Amino acid sequence: MANKNQHKVIIIGSGCAGYTAAIYAARANLSPLVFEGVQPGGQLTITTEVENYPGFPEGILGPELMERVKKQAERFNAKIISENVTEVDLSKRPFRVKAGNEDYWAEALIVSTGASARLLNIESEKRLMGHGVSACATCDGFFFKGKEIAVVGGGDTALEESMFLTKFASKVTVIHRRDQLRASKIMQEKTKKNPKIAFIWDSAVEEILGDGKNHSVRGLRLKNLKTGTTSEFACQGLFVAIGHKPNTELFQGKLELNPAGYIVTKDGSKTNVPGVFAAGDVQDHVYRQAITAAGSGCIAAIDAERFLEAATP
Ligand code: NDP
Repeated sequence: MANKNQHKVIIIGSGCAGYTAAIYAARANLSPLVFEGVQPGGQLTITTEVENYPGFPEGILGPELMERVKKQAERFNAKIISENVTEVDLSKRPFRVKAGNEDYWAEALIVSTGASARLLNIESEKRLMGHGVSACATCDGFFFKGKEIAVVGGGDTALEESMFLTKFASKVTVIHRRDQLRASKIMQEKTKKNPKIAFIWDSAVEEILGDGKNHSVRGLRLKNLKTGTTSEFACQGLFVAIGHKPNTELFQGKLELNPAGYIVTKDGSKTNVPGVFAAGDVQDHVYRQAITAAGSGCIAAIDAERFLEAATP
């Protein structure tokens, strides 16, 4: 292409979905350009062992898995830039993408900016993340076999993760900031019937106690929001399940989003703008797995390839 900043395919985001899209687009000779964004490697980089990704019978560390997928994309000449995209213009093709001080143009765009788990934003959470604190029960539940753990949150995710965690933990205590759950009635009934699940109401986690060695959270300091009193609660792990936020700020008013802010896709990975495709957690609040994100990245690359083929006169 004439201009060095003109590309057939630009991929925004570099988790499982983005890198997989890059592998497929690169192997289709589309020389994709990937913007890694602020969290290169995506959410897997804040987890520890990944035991459910096919092909790794002994498990693999999340950051290592992402490093390998990235290398695989680079092997086929995907170009990866450690910049954050700050602006997109999707009103006409080629689409304009701004990163750093430069503009780039793409004939087709794949959005895989992911979602971020909402966190409590306390210092001990940052320090102990991946070491007794987790934001993903399916990823990390297995490490809490026979342990007493807590889940913070009162929505469907918190209850679903609590139910799932009872497969491993000896006891799961749901800590919620109000005295009424936000979760659906059916989930509430199921959870309340489970003998391994207990509730602590009207309480906020003020601090997570522990030094993080060998998953060694030893408890929580809780504050009762009605009485203002604080107390210590003994547990060996904490799952933060207070919702996810899709990373779609860039696309507001430019792509169709659902009421929760996720990109709406149809017929595979197609968004409402022809030539713009979306993959991974930015368009999926239901499955949210590494393997499903990778699969949807593959779908988006194939959709982009077919779109470009059809668009070429
Ligand atoms: P929600 O937004 O529904 O719930 C988040 C929960 O976290 C709320 O109870 C909220 O409290 C609490 N919370 C938020 N911020 C904080 C904070 N800073 N400190 C403490 N608590 C906090 O998110 P979910 O992820 O649970 O669900 C998202 C969507 O996905 C929903 O529509 C849900 O129904 C759906 N979903 C459906 C499932 C299913 O059908 N099987 C499974 C999982 C999710 P408060 O209630 O006080 O606001």
